[in-house]
Amino acid sequence: MTMPIEKPVYLQKVKQDNMSVLLQQIWKHEAISRVELVELTKLTSGTVTNLTQDLIQLGLIQESETSSGSVGRKRVMLKYNLERFLIIGLDISRTSYEVILTDLTGRIVKSAEGNTVGIHQPEQILDLIESHIRSMNHYAASRGTPVIGLGVSIPGPMDRKAGQLLSPVNFPGWENFPIVSTLESRFGLHVFVEDDARASALAERWYGLGRSVQDLLFITMGMGIGGGVITRGELVEGANGLYGQVGHITLVPDGQLCACGNRGCWETVGSIPGILNRWSAGHSIDEFFHAVRQGDPTAQQCLTQTLRDMESALTTLFNTYDPEIIVIGGRLYPYLAMYMNEIRAGVKERIYSFVRNRLTIEPATFGSSQNAIGAVALVFEHLLMAPLQILTAVKPAQE
Ligand SMILES: [Zn+2]
Repeated sequence: MTMPIEKPVYLQKVKQDNMSVLLQQIWKHEAISRVELVELTKLTSGTVTNLTQDLIQLGLIQESETSSGSVGRKRVMLKYNLERFLIIGLDISRTSYEVILTDLTGRIVKSAEGNTVGIHQPEQILDLIESHIRSMNHYAASRGTPVIGLGVSIPGPMDRKAGQLLSPVNFPGWENFPIVSTLESRFGLHVFVEDDARASALAERWYGLGRSVQDLLFITMGMGIGGGVITRGELVEGANGLYGQVGHITLVPDGQLCACGNRGCWETVGSIPGILNRWSAGHSIDEFFHAVRQGDPTAQQCLTQTLRDMESALTTLFNTYDPEIIVIGGRLYPYLAMYMNEIRAGVKERIYSFVRNRLTIEPATFGSSQNAIGAVALVFEHLLMAPLQILTAVKPAQE
């Protein structure tokens, strides 16, 4: 009888899953000893020793010595080798794009952005982006730090398994576009795609406010209203990939028809176009808030209604998802920031009294680069979940 030489597939999977558990703990603690890893993960010390050795060889983690205690005994700690690999994040919105090159912590090393107004062919937009990605790849190669993947944030909805968009609203030309295979063949990188709101939630999960919190609701308010829900540290997808479509809860029964098919969605009254529609067509959001400051009664009335709607929506969402923290970002947020204390107070009055002091509503961490950082976080998450799959496919950096 001959024994198979290769390890059975399921053993590889067990190995990778165990590595993932270790990597998540190392990320959470920043620096941690093998003994602590054994305690926290319940893996045997032999397994921890072997797997951490493999991860050191892959270049993902490294040892560092720290002295601890009054006797100054040296302890060997494990931490990420943060500058060994790079990640590219790409945000494609309806009117612009942003490309960033970051280290594993999401720290931006290089960035580029541009306008896509009037361009409706995906291939033409990718042509604009191509030179940036190529030059970032060259830069990474010249430093000997390979790019492990390209993350993409783009308007949804999408078929994640097929790697293609479905029919994003107000995003002509992108219906059914096979974005993953197209980018993989253009750039030869691992490509991961997520819708912009959820990518933004991942930015918080791995690099922002979600590092210390398990249950987080991210809401982005701009041309639409989107959301991403992190539950027990994981981005929830739902049966149809529609989990956390916060912009489509009904706020105005029999209200305006929404692109989703429902009437009176929060998005139809609370997004930038929603506010402008309700106020006075043909104006910009800058003009709206200018009118508010000038004391224009119709603008002020519209703002009051917008803030009340927001209170209602946030109360409903708090009761639905029970998050430790609600994070709000998007293009509209800077205009709303000065009203957030009022909104917080309003929501507090409307939720269960015993959780009033636990309600936390905070602004998004990464401002206008939130989506692009989210695209990076998407790749980082795949690295933590499937390190062997990601790293064994990474080619040594080449010019
Ligand atoms: Zn809707």
